[in-house]
Amino acid sequence: MSQFSFRLKCPYCRSDSTFQISSIFTPAAQQEDAKYYSVSAICGHYTCYGPVALRTVAIDHDRMWQAANILRYNNIPYAPHTQDISPYFRILEQWPPEPAPDIPDFLSDKVANVFQQAEETRFGKQNLLSAIGYRSALDLATKDVSPLPDSTKIEMLGARLGRLSKEGHLTQSLGEWAEHIGFLGNASTHDGDQLTNSELDELAMLTKMTLIYLFTLPETIKRLRGTPTIGHSDIDPESLAARFKRWIGFKPRLTKLGKSSS
Ligand SMILES: [Zn+2]
Repeated sequence: MSQFSFRLKCPYCRSDSTFQISSIFTPAAQQEDAKYYSVSAICGHYTCYGPVALRTVAIDHDRMWQAANILRYNNIPYAPHTQDISPYFRILEQWPPEPAPDIPDFLSDKVANVFQQAEETRFGKQNLLSAIGYRSALDLATKDVSPLPDSTKIEMLGARLGRLSKEGHLTQSLGEWAEHIGFLGNASTHDGDQLTNSELDELAMLTKMTLIYLFTLPETIKRLRGTPTIGHSDIDPESLAARFKRWIGFKPRLTKLGKSSS
């Protein structure tokens, strides 16, 4: 245990966690000039230990200078108590950043709203509600893509997604993924089983990819060709590149050593 800690919502395990500080550095040589501090720390949650780095500005200049010097010169590696120094600084930048909802473009308002709530509850660690949310987003989004001839027939989401893939509305790989999504979602909706963080992340990513494939990509192509069906704005290739980067963007996830990250 370090001598100093701070409180932060962990970008890996999503707990409101106590981070154990391993170092605090300032580029200033004198206390009078010291304003900015770089802080490195690990999540204190025993299943996590994820590393974060912060760029901070001091609120309490004396105490930040003191903490930096104690860690630098008189560090006791196994201090019995840690002092929470959260009130003494303000975070300017954080790596990895705090996860934020990322909604694919050109969804209907209804689907976008459900997807946003699924994202928010995922980051809030309400895994059961979040899984139900992603499943509802998929259900709403795929209901009208290719309705069954007999509208009274009930079709489970997993079966529907498999059918959409066979009919060519989804790629085969997305269809296989999507059946897996349906399965994970079913476990939450019907059995009240809470998904683990990584199962939920997978459900989130696969839901997002399916929505992008069904709605965002077709509309993007229409806009690139100058024939938008929603609204009247065009889309330029540069913003498209930025969007793609965002859609498949970095999500902090620690993988166990010796295991592939797939
Ligand atoms: Zn953590």
